[in-house]
Amino acid sequence: MNRLGEKIAGLIRAAGPISVADYMATCLFDPDDGYYTTREPFGVKGDFITAPEVSQIFGELVAVWLVQAWEAIGRSAPVTLAEIGPGRGTLTKDIVRTVARIAPDLAANATVALIEASPRLTEVQRQTLGQSGVSITWHATPASLPNQPLLIVGNEIFDALPFRQFVKADGKWLERAVGLDDHGQFRFGIGAATLDSDALPPGWDNAPDGSIAEIAPPREALMADIAGRLVRDGGAGLFFDYGHLRPGLGDTFQAVRKHRSEDVFDNPGEADLTSHVDFSALAGTARALGLASHAITQADFLLGMGLLERAGRLGENADAAARENISAAVERLAGPEQMGGLFKALAVLPKGLVLPPFRNAS
Ligand code: SAH
Repeated sequence: MNRLGEKIAGLIRAAGPISVADYMATCLFDPDDGYYTTREPFGVKGDFITAPEVSQIFGELVAVWLVQAWEAIGRSAPVTLAEIGPGRGTLTKDIVRTVARIAPDLAANATVALIEASPRLTEVQRQTLGQSGVSITWHATPASLPNQPLLIVGNEIFDALPFRQFVKADGKWLERAVGLDDHGQFRFGIGAATLDSDALPPGWDNAPDGSIAEIAPPREALMADIAGRLVRDGGAGLFFDYGHLRPGLGDTFQAVRKHRSEDVFDNPGEADLTSHVDFSALAGTARALGLASHAITQADFLLGMGLLERAGRLGENADAAARENISAAVERLAGPEQMGGLFKALAVLPKGLVLPPFRNAS
């Protein structure tokens, strides 16, 4: 077992099994050995590749949507252009470049802000954006963003926040916990906490014993923070994540290291831990606070924003190898079996507003 594994095992020996949420939070954010605090997760040499790292087109299309949103909310000035969970800073780099080109009015009136929990990644973002020519402020949470209209984006941020699992046993939902077996290895067990079935979507009450339900209060709390601010100051949000549009039962806890999935207990702090994001829960949180929210697949978002046209234009002046790369990126970002179908896009906007390519029905 590695050093972080020993530390978590020590906690369990001292105080008993811990929740899946506490296991995940410790693996990702332990100050000395946590995944986001100490590792380089992204890219070919890292553990996984995210959409902005696949191609600049992703950030360009997001920028076009943000410009459209800014116009729809009345071209507020000043306005904050923010990204939450920026990783290496690539998405903001592409957004800033594109906005400067297509909407100089927005660029002139925008304050760029990054919200990042990891001090190490904050440094990486400083390097990525050092040459961008805009001044940027960093924030540990959305609370310290300036009090003015906000355009905010996030890619793969909600799935990095902890979630809880409950197992149906003897007709009750009991919290799934992480404990130790007789050999001192991690194993799943059942903890004491119960879940009131009122907290779950209708119909889950009848789930058979052994079913697993997932809820993610920290994700909904983050959405509530952002939505509350959008209601107060005006603005819009756009978020992408791996997840489902409708609530569903089942265990989606997963670990990814070096581009492969592995057991969540194999290498604590050395693998990315995630679970599917429940978009209906996030949309419901935003609506309850008085916003409109719409969700579609990432493929529908990117194709609707002109992915193929933009890829074609980039390809015009490129050589055969570069064209090959562009079409591989399009497939990866929008292919139905790839990110296009697995990832979803969620827009949150002032009530009554719906912006293409989102539709009112979703
Ligand atoms: N958006 C980037 C990185 C996604 S990984 C990309 O698409 O490449 C998740 C990012 O969210 C990391 O930068 C991680 O440090 C950050 N993060 C995780 N929890 C956070 C929180 N509560 N607040 C802000 N950032 C957080």
